[in-house]
Amino acid sequence: MEYFEKIEQAALFARSALSLMEAHRVPPHPGNFAVWYVYASGSFPDLKRAVDETIAAKKPFDDAAMAELRRRFFGFHAEGEALTHATQRIESALAQVIEYLGAASRGASSYGDTLQTFTDKMAGADPIVDIRDMLRSVLNETRSVTETNRLLEIRLDSSSQEIRLLRENLDEVKREALTDALTGIANRKLFDLVLRESTAQAMEKGERLGLIMLDIDFFKMFNDTYGHLMGDQVLKLVARALTDTLRPDDTAARYGGEEFAIVLPKSTVAEAARTAEILLANVAGKQVTNKRTGEHLGRITLSAGIAEYRLGEPLGQFIQRADEALYAAKRQGRNRVVSERDLDGSTIGIKSEPRKP
Ligand code: GH3
Ligand code: MG
Ligand code: MG
Repeated sequence: MEYFEKIEQAALFARSALSLMEAHRVPPHPGNFAVWYVYASGSFPDLKRAVDETIAAKKPFDDAAMAELRRRFFGFHAEGEALTHATQRIESALAQVIEYLGAASRGASSYGDTLQTFTDKMAGADPIVDIRDMLRSVLNETRSVTETNRLLEIRLDSSSQEIRLLRENLDEVKREALTDALTGIANRKLFDLVLRESTAQAMEKGERLGLIMLDIDFFKMFNDTYGHLMGDQVLKLVARALTDTLRPDDTAARYGGEEFAIVLPKSTVAEAARTAEILLANVAGKQVTNKRTGEHLGRITLSAGIAEYRLGEPLGQFIQRADEALYAAKRQGRNRVVSERDLDGSTIGIKSEPRKP
């Protein structure tokens, strides 16, 4: 997770996290602190909701509950555990390979000794009797070395298969760590990575880079009316509309809760705004239906804020401009796209209050 707060703001969140932890009797370990810091900052609505639900249910924040929160939102536990497990398996597979190779080399050297003894004995041997015996023993040794090599081949083959499976397993762990579980699109962590890469590339090549921040309108009301599960279906529907509309180079991510962010390489603010208009129209054009009952649940609208990267600026500032445009779209009545160019210059780039999640 990336943190963009200024030092005073961060100190405020940290103090508030510590006092919340004290109030809920949570040991202030670094892992727990991260959870409560993010809760205090309100920047991650899913996490906030999960913590609020635990408080409302009067459940304790014991070790198990904190471990679950860390696993769900930071993946410390899950990723760490999966990686440790995979690493241990790789280590033991490699130890096996080394052991096989050691056995092979011992076999080869003992075979070499046998041949040497045979050559030495040949010098003073009785031509017929001794040589027949010696040949028999060399033949036996050759058979045994051949058998050892065959076994070794089988074992090396199974080791290399095990290593191939482990590599696939690691790729899978990596993919999961960067994917939003509900919608299947990029999560906030991948968004941070892509944004950092894309801004670096824009600077290197002098290219344009657009950013769209999207937020579902009146989503709380939708959840309150039709329930959380239907709300989850809407999040999936929006994510699908994003992936259907965007170019392969664009990255759509679930930024948190009911907010989405899209990174658009080689796009100006005007181009990104046009893409956002298409997205909004696509989503608004879909009739939301409860598949089970067939009931029509109306239409969903989105608001969007657009910004274009200014080469060299801090990433937090870039995101904040798109965010300010998004909130202007909300203020102007929702279901619309506002770009940073439409904003009054005095509101751009100045410090604003952190908005509510
Ligand atoms: P606005 O038009 O100003 O954006 O209003 P809003 O109701 O969409 O905004 P608000 O921030 O008040 O509420 C956001 C809601 O999003 C509250 C929360 O229940 C819902 N939400 C966040 N994450 C999820 C989720 O994962 N699933 C569901 N079903 N709802 C979620
Ligand atoms: Mg929101
Ligand atoms: Mg909303």
